[in-house]
Amino acid sequence: MIDFRSDTVTTPSDEMRAAARDAPVGDDVYRDDPTVNELEARAAELVGTEAALYVPSGTMGNQIAIRTHTDRGQELLCDEQAHVYKWELGGIPQLSGVQPRIVDCGERCVPTPGQVREGYVEEDLHRPGTGLLCLENTHNSRGGVAVPKADIDAAADAAHDLDVPVHLDGARFLNACVALDVDPAEMAERLDSVMFCLSKGLGAPVGSVLAGSEAFIERARRTRKLFGGAMRQAGLIAAPALRALDNVDRLVEDHEHAARLATGLNDIDGLSAPAPDTNIVMVNTEAAGLTGEALSAACKERDVTFHAFDDHTCRLCTHLDVDGDDVEEGLARIEAAVDEA
Ligand SMILES: *Cc1c(COP(=O)(O)O)cnc(C)c1O
Repeated sequence: MIDFRSDTVTTPSDEMRAAARDAPVGDDVYRDDPTVNELEARAAELVGTEAALYVPSGTMGNQIAIRTHTDRGQELLCDEQAHVYKWELGGIPQLSGVQPRIVDCGERCVPTPGQVREGYVEEDLHRPGTGLLCLENTHNSRGGVAVPKADIDAAADAAHDLDVPVHLDGARFLNACVALDVDPAEMAERLDSVMFCLSKGLGAPVGSVLAGSEAFIERARRTRKLFGGAMRQAGLIAAPALRALDNVDRLVEDHEHAARLATGLNDIDGLSAPAPDTNIVMVNTEAAGLTGEALSAACKERDVTFHAFDDHTCRLCTHLDVDGDDVEEGLARIEAAVDEA
């Protein structure tokens, strides 16, 4: 099976499995796990923050950040296609008692300073007040877009002028930094917190990191406990995650594979795919007379798997476990599926 469903499907390398076996561990709730401590220190250094916290998933990292930054009854401002709003089971109201206020950020993927000011709600007797601006980079639902640092900074500055903190859902933050050739610490410099996933393009079996100031991470540590995410001998999963941090530079290969995939899809009659910024390819199936579901089903019969994203779009993702040959073979099978459908 050639698996383009997501970069979450990678399985740990032999080196990662060996690292897990040999990891020194302790009770991380007592801060006694040297491997977790090392992972948190390295992650904080990578994104240029004072501290970082290892969390079981990206979703939990985002929701911990939201709960930690806000008070119940406040509002959170984000793009209408944001993962925190769209794909986290309504966690914003469920877990933090916070009301999302969405704006359509279009191709820019993050709000303009004007949209931040318009979306901002000042606290008074009747209005709840805006507690957080949440940005996303790369932007998943908008096609793995790498949002330039200037647009992130402009949104963050506008929020800070209103005393609103800024969290970045950076599940694929390092893909963005590699694609834009910007140092992660520079990319994160105006943000109050950043979450990035170890278990996507970097290939770790489990986990994400939430990074921010020491004071913020101290409070986030309590929220992690509240959400049931405080783990004990977590060094067993932090050790392969540490190895995953060595995979940052090779993300460029995933981006090259995605670019080749898009070119090849465009060469198939009836399919069109815009050139991707990173490792996510969105392909439109309408001119082939196929729904996204129909294409995905026909390809699955040929042992190529990916998801339909909406009526006439499929989403394909490249990652550590697909190489250049898989991309070529995948394209040949997709072409055969379209021809026969
Ligand atoms: C995958 C993803 C998450 C959530 O990560 P999980 O580890 O799957 O919970 C959050 N935000 C974005 C943009 C993502 O792509």
